[in-house]
Amino acid sequence: MQAFVMKQVGETGIEEKEQPDAGPMDAILKPTKGLVCTSDCHTVHGAIGEREDLTLGHEVVGTVEEVGSEVSDFEPGDRVVVGAITPDWNSEAAQDGHSSQSNGALGGWKFANVKDGTFQEYVHVNDADGNLAHIPEGVTDHEAVYTTDMMSTGFRAAENGSIPMGGTVAVFAQGPVGLMATKGARLQGAGEVIAVETVETRQELAREYGADHVVDFADGDAVEQIMDLTDGEGVDTAIEALGSDQTLQDCIKVAKPGGTVSNVGYHGGDEFRHIPREEWGVGMAEIDIVTDLCPGGRLRMRRMLQMLESGRVDPTKMTTHEFDFEDIETAFDMMDEKEDDIIKPLIHFE
Ligand code: ZN
Repeated sequence: MQAFVMKQVGETGIEEKEQPDAGPMDAILKPTKGLVCTSDCHTVHGAIGEREDLTLGHEVVGTVEEVGSEVSDFEPGDRVVVGAITPDWNSEAAQDGHSSQSNGALGGWKFANVKDGTFQEYVHVNDADGNLAHIPEGVTDHEAVYTTDMMSTGFRAAENGSIPMGGTVAVFAQGPVGLMATKGARLQGAGEVIAVETVETRQELAREYGADHVVDFADGDAVEQIMDLTDGEGVDTAIEALGSDQTLQDCIKVAKPGGTVSNVGYHGGDEFRHIPREEWGVGMAEIDIVTDLCPGGRLRMRRMLQMLESGRVDPTKMTTHEFDFEDIETAFDMMDEKEDDIIKPLIHFE
């Protein structure tokens, strides 16, 4: 079968690979639609270290091709989604309520990390009963593929933000995760949502997804603008959806005492992040910093699919480009360079 791989740090290409086998509790999925993620680009640039001929991708939907002997709730032909994160549901971390961290930090992240990802013609899914979810009839594959990471991660940023009904939320960066965090904040009952972004197409989408104000950091310091908008009070919840030292600091600076900083950004680059001491109330202003990786699993995916089925959100507005699988390298390169104001490229496998 064909696979789009990271050959080594900095190098990608399409390669021929052996089809994976399903163990007793596993399934093999035949993808129909996928999405390229900025984290695939981070991986190729060495974010998780050296990898050799590792298939990329972790956002996919498809049909079940084969199931193991112990799989009870899925069968070949079922139309399913698999989360980007596929936890080991019998791990102690999962039993402790931290399924994404099963078997070590970020251990639920398997696709394109510790095993081949989803940009190949057949995909291995561990713990199929725990990690697959049926796609409801009224939901398209295109819609459903957004549940795997963008909706699950963006909505978790809002869930972790302890947003009070009517509260004020600032969302730093309006990439696809930030956009879903903006939408998530609205759905969680925020009374005022401030999106921080400079790219015009993303600013427009932020408004469509419910931002009341858009702060453009190219027009001046984002913190000052947010403090002005909130009469110097700051926000109840600041969401970090970028992963830079600057934006994390800004989140702490705009969070009011008792507020929450919810981080879903991937922090690469320099060894340390910095906390602005005074704005953090010298460590005692009850400003919590909460972190999470994308939640996965069947229940999580079912809930995300429910949001689509009931029309609460239309994530397909973020699809700016479409490619056939054979042209996936172009999609990846565009995503890497953020060419042509790309937000999400949809990949058609058939
Ligand atoms: Zn992703």
